[in-house]
Amino acid sequence: MMRMTLDLHCSHCGSNCFLLPMERGEGGEVQCSRCQAVRCSTLHLEKALMAVGQTTAYRRPGL
Ligand SMILES: [Zn+2]
Repeated sequence: MMRMTLDLHCSHCGSNCFLLPMERGEGGEVQCSRCQAVRCSTLHLEKALMAVGQTTAYRRPGL
């Protein structure tokens, strides 16, 4: 797992530090580094980061 600070916030504790899986064997899920809650899959995370990069007005689809 790799610890990263992202432009996302944990819905449980509000932390923006997440653990990203480095290999497929680790499950492909992004965990909050503080409370260990599973935030989302890396697939969703990639889409979210792309959306953030493409728009100045940051909206959260699905929340
Ligand atoms: Zn958390």
